[in-house]
Amino acid sequence: MTRVRPEAFGAIDLGGTKILSIVATADGHILGEDLRPSRTADGLEAVMRYMVYSLDAALNSAGRQRQELPAVGIASPGAVDAVNGIVPDAPQLPGWRDVPLRDLMAEELGLRVFLENDASAAALGEHVFGAGRGSRYMLFLTISTGVGGGIIIDGKLYGGKSGAAGELGHFVIDADGPPCGCGARGCLESLASGSAIARRGRELLARGQSPGLARLAEAEGDVTTEMMYRAAADGDEGCREAFRQAGRYLGIALAGYVNVFDPEVIIIGGGVAQAGELLLEPARQAMEELAMTQPLRGVRLVAGELGKGAGALGMVAVMRGQLQKEPVNT
Ligand SMILES: [Zn+2]
Repeated sequence: MTRVRPEAFGAIDLGGTKILSIVATADGHILGEDLRPSRTADGLEAVMRYMVYSLDAALNSAGRQRQELPAVGIASPGAVDAVNGIVPDAPQLPGWRDVPLRDLMAEELGLRVFLENDASAAALGEHVFGAGRGSRYMLFLTISTGVGGGIIIDGKLYGGKSGAAGELGHFVIDADGPPCGCGARGCLESLASGSAIARRGRELLARGQSPGLARLAEAEGDVTTEMMYRAAADGDEGCREAFRQAGRYLGIALAGYVNVFDPEVIIIGGGVAQAGELLLEPARQAMEELAMTQPLRGVRLVAGELGKGAGALGMVAVMRGQLQKEPVNT
């Protein structure tokens, strides 16, 4: 007896340090995956090769062939032009400028390719398969090295005129604040990202104000937010305060988003979200203190459910949606 195998999609989440590839069914069940370094300093052609190896490894662990895939989705950093399949530039991808990544990878793989910004893809992933299931008005922020975002309006990803909308991390909170990667000052990203929290950690070390962090840094090297989270969990007051401060800035931004979008749910993903309530509790407090009464009513602020798989699963949702819309040629 032969079992009918469910259709599977391939998805690649390209990051500044890692490539995550998955092979998953249309309902988000992951059949195989591969995680490897993206080595972006090696340049465009090499990174494309690593993406192909990674996808093939995920196919291998799923027991599938490349030719079985109806399409492959790629989530990329940068203000991606999803309509034309172009990555304009991104701090995580040195040397890339107006790269037609969708068409290049389609050629390389011999398959149809869809391209989307990584944070937008992760927003879709959480909306379709994660903490935002069933919502129609949802905001998603991913806090890692930087802060990315995605906006779901009436059940659909809001792209703006070029697909570049949703940069919730570049919402100015303090115009005299620290310089931001985008060229402005005092954006949420410059105050509450993983880089901003780690910068605060290094200041604490320099001033001798964080004995817990000092012990970890001596054993493990340069300060990371993950290290700071462990120190905070062990009761290090300096690190706890650094997360509380970032959480408060986050909440100030959230109050603005609440007033503008009137969302049902706000989901926080990305590596820094592992700090959980240490970050979310002061964020919720600031949001409730500052937002207007009516749009604030009933807003849920929660951590994402999909972790590092959100972007790749979001691409599965993109492909599923796109291919369903198209008439089948027989
Ligand atoms: Zn900025």
